[in-house]
Parts: sequence; structure tokens; C-alpha cells
Amino acid sequence: MSPEPLCSEAPACSLCGEPAVIHQRHAGRLLCGIHLIADLEHRVSGTIASQKQIVPGDCVAVALSGGKDSTALLLLLHRLFKSHNDIRFVAVTVDEGIDGYREATIRSAEGLARRLGVKHITVSFRELFGDSLDTILKDRETQACSICGILRKKALVKGAERAGATKLATGHNLDDEAQSVLMNVLRGDLMRLVRNSGADSGGRFIPRVKPLMYVQEKEIATYLVLQGIWSELPECPYAIHALRREVRSVLSGFEYRHPGTMLRLMENKKMIEAAFLGKTGGEPVGHCRECGDPCSGETCQLCQLRHSLGR
Ligand code: SF4
Ligand code: ZN
Repeated sequence: MSPEPLCSEAPACSLCGEPAVIHQRHAGRLLCGIHLIADLEHRVSGTIASQKQIVPGDCVAVALSGGKDSTALLLLLHRLFKSHNDIRFVAVTVDEGIDGYREATIRSAEGLARRLGVKHITVSFRELFGDSLDTILKDRETQACSICGILRKKALVKGAERAGATKLATGHNLDDEAQSVLMNVLRGDLMRLVRNSGADSGGRFIPRVKPLMYVQEKEIATYLVLQGIWSELPECPYAIHALRREVRSVLSGFEYRHPGTMLRLMENKKMIEAAFLGKTGGEPVGHCRECGDPCSGETCQLCQLRHSLGR
């Protein structure tokens, strides 16, 4: 029996035979750089078209944190729509005020927007809510992501309103979306899945769209490496407290051992949404009695948060 070669060759792309850069386990194929880029652009433009996420006349506010998902989102949208004169993009960055973390990602966001010639708006927690996240979270670090999530949502809508946007695009990927499904199940809050995901503020309704919702995190990372703009950025210091971190690790293990798990979770979400179509998760959408924003109860999440923070 001949010995195994000491150094085996890189596996080949299932489509062209060139060295592969990624194994799409759920699809049972390997892809080279050129075919991965083509595949991502094709799938993202398919998601946008099938859900009418972006249509002629739109001004799209792109949530640009400067992290890898939002960077890939702006790059992909710019490539897909650069010849469409009837669609505009404005990048919106939220500065939560997280010392030692946000500065680097904001610099990266500014650099990308400048390079692509996309208008860029930054809104800060300090300006909108009177304090940085670091100050707001004093002695409440374990609740960081739930508090930050509510404030970020509001800040993004404010930025989108200032930009005169008709849509708000976020870089949520397949991993994020599948994690959210699982987290809602674990929290016993399945109804949250079917609540209206539009971005509301003061009576103005800006639909939120997620063009990367069927793209895996590892595909996005490889895409950025191929575009030559991969850079290691610091991780948010509060991320260690997040339930999402645990769910992420469990889910990626499942996805590795049982490829397609994340897509199947998304299919479940779609089935639940279809079952509740027109019922808005069983709760009527009204308006917050304090600030007037649309919400499903009497008081919106932001006003509830203000009360619990004593602000
Ligand atoms: Fe906010 Fe949590 Fe994200 Fe940090 S990890 S930016 S605290 S949501
Ligand atoms: Zn309110």
C-alpha cells in the first residue's frame, strides 16, 4: 500500500476545479473564490427581489457598524445597485459610546463609506439619550445587550429618518437569524418571531430589510477576505454577558454536525409567520401612550426601559 501524501492538494471547486476557498456543507459543494462571490451576489439579489426589499425610488439607510456583516452588506449593495440611478444608499452608524471598542469600528465604517462614495451619518446614544452606553450600564452590565438592543433600534430609526430613508437595511446574517429563532424558543417568547419587524418612530414607518438573512457568517468572512478588506476588529466588551453567545456556540456545533440546521430553523419561522399571517402575533398594533410610537402593548419597549432605568 502506498503511503498517504505528506501534503495533500487543496480540495477543488465543484464547479470549475480551481482550488476551493469554502465548503458549503448544506449544499454539499465546494467553491473557489470566483464562484463564491458569484453565488453570494446571486443569492443576495434573489432575496432582495423575492421579498421586494429594495425597489426603484428607494433611499436605503444601511446600518453600518463597521463590523464584518454590515461592511459586507454595504459592499454587496453597492456592487449590485451601482448602475441603478433610481436607488440611493446612505450609511448610518450608531455610536453607543463603548470605550475602547467603538472607535475602531467607526473609523472602519467612515473609511468604507468614503471609499464607496456613500453618504454617511453617525448618531450617538449621548446625543439621543443623554449618556453613553458605558454610563447607562453602570452596575447593569449583565443586561447590556437587551438595553443596548432597544436603544440601538431607536437610534438606527432616527438616523434613517434624518437620511430621509424609505428602507432600513441591516446586516443580519443566517447565523444571527437562526440564533434569534432559537433564543425566542428558549425564552418562551415565540410570538416575538411574528411581531411586525418594521422600524417605527413617531408615526413614521420605515420597513426594515435583511438582504443577508440567508448568507452564513463564514461565507461573509470569506467574502471579505476575497475582497481584501478583512480586518480583525475588537469584540464588544459586553458580549460576554449575551445569551446569544452561548446559543451561537451551540448552533454552530449543530450546523457542523447536521448541515442545514440553520436553514431549517428559518423554515420553521416562516411556517409560524404563515400561520399567524394577518394576526400580528395575536396582538393588535397600537401606539405607545407615552411617546406615540407604534407598539403591541400600552407602552413601547423604549419607554419601559426609560422607566426601569429611572430616566
Ligand atoms: Fe450592544 Fe451587546 Fe452588541 Fe455590545 S454586544 S454592541 S452591548 S448589543
Ligand atoms: Zn413609548
